[in-house]
Amino acid sequence: MTTTLSPVVSRNPADPADVVAHVPAAGAFGAAEAVEGARAAQPGWLRGGAAARSAALASIATALETAMDELAALAVREVGKPLAEARAEVARAVAIWRYHAQAPYEPSGAVHETAAGAGLLLTRRRPHGVAGLITPWNFPFAIPSWKAAPALAAGNTVVLKPAPEATACAQRLAEIVQGVLPERVFTAVPGGAAEGAAVVSAADVVSFTGSTEAGRAVARAATDRGVPFQAEMGGLNAAIVLPDADIARAAAHLAAAIAGYAGQKCTATSRVIAVGAAADPLREALTEALRSIPAGDPADPATVCGPLISEQAREQVSGAWAGLSALTGGTVPDGPGWYAAPTLVEKVPAGHRLLREEVFGPVAALLTADDLADAVRITNSVPYGLVTSVHTTDLDAALYGLDELDTGMIRVNAPSTGVDFHLPFGGTKSSSHGPREQGRAALEFYTASRTYTLSPGKTM
Ligand code: NAD
Repeated sequence: MTTTLSPVVSRNPADPADVVAHVPAAGAFGAAEAVEGARAAQPGWLRGGAAARSAALASIATALETAMDELAALAVREVGKPLAEARAEVARAVAIWRYHAQAPYEPSGAVHETAAGAGLLLTRRRPHGVAGLITPWNFPFAIPSWKAAPALAAGNTVVLKPAPEATACAQRLAEIVQGVLPERVFTAVPGGAAEGAAVVSAADVVSFTGSTEAGRAVARAATDRGVPFQAEMGGLNAAIVLPDADIARAAAHLAAAIAGYAGQKCTATSRVIAVGAAADPLREALTEALRSIPAGDPADPATVCGPLISEQAREQVSGAWAGLSALTGGTVPDGPGWYAAPTLVEKVPAGHRLLREEVFGPVAALLTADDLADAVRITNSVPYGLVTSVHTTDLDAALYGLDELDTGMIRVNAPSTGVDFHLPFGGTKSSSHGPREQGRAALEFYTASRTYTLSPGKTM
């Protein structure tokens, strides 16, 4: 019996009549074949040596840099990322490949003394084999890069299963990477959940980024097989603003973190907590900052808030603010694109969806707290724990936040978005599962430690 696979289709969120990708899905069989091909190529890639791996990663960085304009334009068209941010994402991907190009030369272990007698004890980190990478659509170049670069540096081969919405971006990235690497060292398989599940059921190490629901399914499947995995998932991130903060500066940071890329980042701010006397000035400054955020056509270099990824996403976002009191926004502009206005709502009832679930749109709830301890309690009261921003000029308040906030990342006087790629990235609770990614933590994840005992063969 033959089954017909539906094609993978992506559309331009600013102009949905524009079909960006229309390609055959790999199917579960195709995804499994890709993993087998990558497995056959892995010993050769590892034996090729550190210098070859380092040079290849550096060449990929250069090739991406050369293609910057084309890649940024593709991200604008396929995932609706505003041009300035799309260029920043490609630049970030270039920096990530360059950073990991040094990794093959890093020491891979340590030498220890024996407890008794002659000989040597060694530890050495070795690659797992095939890394299966499952990625979302919102960072179509940076996320595949920050997973693939350390996996390849450590001597693994890679099968990438990108989100269907970012198929053209992933295919172009794969062409560039494959132009540098030996055959089958890096493969991208187009498809959806079925192809993702097939990769998870065959790879030797799994790295997932996406929604909490899909991440849990991936975590269960990887655990059943006993393969190492990491899952980076959703956020419901708070910003705490104290009365001593520079309110105008805080409002500018918050507006960008709420509405930049239409709030479609796991690190976007969706809850703003004004402490005590910060409430009135912040309400005014943030309303104005959001009202004046450049919104609209993502191809315009000035745009900060572009369209949402799909019609369904727009319905979810506008459904989430329905019936609430909007200080600004709360509207869905006319037009063929999937736009939603940057929105700030207040007087949100306890238990409302905006305070429980990730909505993934340009909307935040303005809340108030009596004091810093109350603000920390509100921040920590949700099932997610990715990132919190704290806005204050009081060092004691900042230190209290670092100690008491239950989120994987805390940013003082900086927006919740825009975290650094060379440090460990991840959260607590439903935001993350398994070891951290990015920075040096990534190299640990893509390798396993071996312990060697070398004893003399003759009695000396
Ligand atoms: P998604 O969960 O719908 O899809 C992510 C990927 O998983 C896609 O490639 C999809 O095809 C695949 N997939 C879905 N079900 C699967 C299954 N059962 N088995 C294997 N693969 C499966 O997420 P999305 O809509 O593409 O991205 C948005 C989500 O990603 C948001 O929740 C956002 O917070 C999250 N995100 C998190 C981070 C982070 O680092 N924490 C970064 C970016 C995005």
